Amino acid sequence: MNIAVIGGGAAGFMAAITAKESNSNATLTIFEKSEKVLVKVKVSGGGRCNVTNATFSISQLIKNYPRGGKQLKKSFFHFYTKDTVTWFENRGVLLKTEADNRMFPKSNTSQTIVDLLLNTAENLNIRISYKSRVSAIELSDNKINLVVNGENLSFDKVIIASGGSPKASGLDWLTALGYRIVKPVPSLFTFNMPKNPVTELMGVSVPNVTASIKGSKLKQQGPLLITHWGMSGPAILKLSAWGAQDLAKTNYNFSVQINWLGVNEEELREEFTALSSSRKQMHNHNPFDIPKRLWHFMLNKLEIPETQIWNELAKKHKNRLINMLINDEFEVKGKTTFKEEFVSCGGIDLSEINMETMESKRHKGIYFAGELLNIDGVTGGFNFQAAWTTGYLAGKNSAL
Ligand SMILES: Cc1cc2nc3c(=O)[nH]c(=O)nc-3n(C[C@H](O)[C@H](O)[C@H](O)COP(=O)(O)OP(=O)(O)OC[C@H]3O[C@@H](n4cnc5c(N)ncnc54)[C@H](O)[C@@H]3O)c2cc1C
Repeated sequence: MNIAVIGGGAAGFMAAITAKESNSNATLTIFEKSEKVLVKVKVSGGGRCNVTNATFSISQLIKNYPRGGKQLKKSFFHFYTKDTVTWFENRGVLLKTEADNRMFPKSNTSQTIVDLLLNTAENLNIRISYKSRVSAIELSDNKINLVVNGENLSFDKVIIASGGSPKASGLDWLTALGYRIVKPVPSLFTFNMPKNPVTELMGVSVPNVTASIKGSKLKQQGPLLITHWGMSGPAILKLSAWGAQDLAKTNYNFSVQINWLGVNEEELREEFTALSSSRKQMHNHNPFDIPKRLWHFMLNKLEIPETQIWNELAKKHKNRLINMLINDEFEVKGKTTFKEEFVSCGGIDLSEINMETMESKRHKGIYFAGELLNIDGVTGGFNFQAAWTTGYLAGKNSAL
């Protein structure tokens, strides 16, 4: 059994290792177009590699995938987060869980993961062919032929794990085989608000906001960070991921509404009623779970004087303040790629794939794994988890 793996990333290595471990008679070759493998693993998670997430319920896990969650459910039944932890532990790499459930190698360096994958591949005699770009796949009787640097090579099975492509044209070699592609667009980005005065608050972090896209049902909760170019933080990144396709259509010109407190109007009005007997100065007495700098910024924006006392707040100001606290609107003009983790959504349409085996429904013997698929997760280790799961299944089933 001669198996080719296209792409030396997380998914490709997991696929090759699993195939060889499942069938020791198989010959495995990883074709990598560049001169290095596992580049993204190395830089991931700020150099620490956020390997997976300690979400050990499949029904919860799939909620972290704006695209592909439903389909991944079938795959996760075979290999999910717990299996990833065990897989690494069995090979001597212990993972640790941080407060927000992200899991990293105990060593705190991605090099541990790179070394493990490289050493395991070497011990299993998996061949790595560097500077070997696969430019076409041709099908003949019982063989699958790859065009590698212009040369024709023939295999029994092929696993395609060539990663995400920011442009649809990067997938032309697969559309040529008839595969349906969902047009790739970026996911996981931050919002630009050029010249908006809110950027004066750069560095301010608000613990629990609800951010929504005006005119849509897109809404996410979590911490928000004000940056010198606009807004970032988990609530914004999640919103960018869930809204990736819709926001691309607006060419990244849209309005975002921020509920700084994450409560509804009724709850907030009750809080205001309780404050209506307070003789404290509003500037000094911020009763809400938002930073002082943001509180002062809001009061100044509403031209509420420094000496204003809570129980003398005019109805007009009260209503405006309530509106600002729960429905503050900002114009977004453009996006910035998130420095820690970015992925492209789109790719091979999942209806082309048997998600339990990762085999193509169109062509027997061709398997898919990793970010090349129309699967993407929010930040937190979910993208690697999808790569490990689909890589594992592609490897195991191709080697049968
Ligand atoms: C800076 C950064 C940080 C990240 N941090 C995290 C994180 O901490 N946690 C997390 O879950 N996710 C993270 N991600 C996302 C995660 O890295 C990816 O989802 C994951 O690496 C995808 O793995 P893959 O094997 O599918 O693709 P890739 O890692 O992109 O590997 C594909 C490989 O295929 C090769 N290739 C492509 N085309 C061909 C061809 N035609 N012939 C031969 N070779 C080819 C490429 O050169 C590449 O080496 C991060 C991403 C980035 C960019």
